[in-house]
Amino acid sequence: MNATVKLQKSWFKDGHTKSYGFRKEQLLKMKTMLTTFEKPILNALKFDLNKSEYEAYASEIAFLKSEIDHHVKHLKSWMQVTKVKTPLTHAGSKNYIKKEPYGTILVIAPWNYPVQLALAPVVGAVAAGNTVIIKPSELTPTVSWVLKKMIEQYFPPHFIAVVEGGRDITQELLDQPLDYIFFTGSVPVGKIIMEKASKRLIPVTLELGGKSPTIVHKDANIDITARRIVWGKYTNAGQTCIAPDYLYVHHEVKADLLRAMKKYMEQFYGKKTLKNKDFTKMINHSHFERVCSYLESGAVIVGGAVDESTHKIEPTILDQVVWDDPVMKDEIFGPILPVLTYSNLDEVIEKINERPKPLALYYFGENEIEQQRILNSISFGGGCVNDTLYHIINPHLPFGGVGESGMGSYHGKRSFDTFTHEKSITKQTTRFDQILRYPDSQLGLTVL
Ligand code: NAD
Repeated sequence: MNATVKLQKSWFKDGHTKSYGFRKEQLLKMKTMLTTFEKPILNALKFDLNKSEYEAYASEIAFLKSEIDHHVKHLKSWMQVTKVKTPLTHAGSKNYIKKEPYGTILVIAPWNYPVQLALAPVVGAVAAGNTVIIKPSELTPTVSWVLKKMIEQYFPPHFIAVVEGGRDITQELLDQPLDYIFFTGSVPVGKIIMEKASKRLIPVTLELGGKSPTIVHKDANIDITARRIVWGKYTNAGQTCIAPDYLYVHHEVKADLLRAMKKYMEQFYGKKTLKNKDFTKMINHSHFERVCSYLESGAVIVGGAVDESTHKIEPTILDQVVWDDPVMKDEIFGPILPVLTYSNLDEVIEKINERPKPLALYYFGENEIEQQRILNSISFGGGCVNDTLYHIINPHLPFGGVGESGMGSYHGKRSFDTFTHEKSITKQTTRFDQILRYPDSQLGLTVL
């Protein structure tokens, strides 16, 4: 571990990663790598998570390729020195921001989108001129193995390396003199990462999780709302950090919404989802048991069947849930959607604000004043009005949490900025001097 970090740091110091030409070439190489390894990636995702080819391609490979294209397109302009204004106090000088890579970046990834979440930060880190160590999740060992093989085939270890392993290996990596840590994972582990990083004052980005509310107001377009919630919730069997965690619906439209959602659940995943060969499974037995335990909250009104042998859980809706139920305590991270009702938006704002700031929030309703009221009164990482998940795939929108759902953000230019130190420079003139700053000065300006 120590040797890999040392090697990367020394290679970085020699300046190999800094030119525009080098960075662009590596990004293009990464895109070719994804094409060459498309089949092994899809197979590994099927093996570890039972992800369907369609979902795996769209949410992992296509996402990464589009992120690479966006970086390649804008890299030259992002790398430019940014000139800033010169105030009167600085007359005669030039002032600008120089973009400097941090050095060696550690990317720690989770298992739910194990390719995308391991490599999307790498795109930004490489574009910004850094070297990278990737620590994929031990819960998707086949994907991690493929990641290691493809990175080894395309990049030397002094530039990009994959280190496999669980918490012990990660802890060891965290003891190294890294220049930046980019972590995606759970809130409890995020706290460990930040504590470790503080020992060496290593800057961190924490992409965490939480319970993302989905509010459906009485003026929502019910049919399209139902379709978009079903898609957002049950994609990857609910194992998405920004999946709608719970449904908070106005009591007047609840019956219509649930009826429409049931229709789309059957249409998308079939009446017997456990038999659907393409429906994603829970990642392992302990997560399967954890998610199954939520079925004891409230009353199942759609789904509810489980299969221990395949670790699959049917897309499920739980009615008659109250805030104190276990299903409302932690992030669900599975295909179970609890439903709560409300009568007015004051109640919604108060209840959500009593809880940790969510990573995402979705509001469905047509009235613009009410949309703005929600956006202005609740703090959350990001989200959508009248949709779910879609904000994450716009490269012009930074993605990240706030409060307990994370700190820092990435995607598109924000990824480049995240892995770039902005070095502020005043280039002073020697033709004259502003002498007012000196202790013995009487006049404002002396021409030399
Ligand atoms: P996790 O926190 O258990 O693991 C994430 C990574 O940390 C893994 O690589 C793991 O090996 C490592 N790790 C685990 N325990 C550790 C320890 N004690 N010390 C050091 N490293 C340790 O998360 P997970 O179960 O892999 O992923 C699910 C969580 O990630 C959910 O909470 C989800 O919301 C969140 N998530 C967030 C985003 C986002 O972009 N904000 C994306 C995906 C997942």
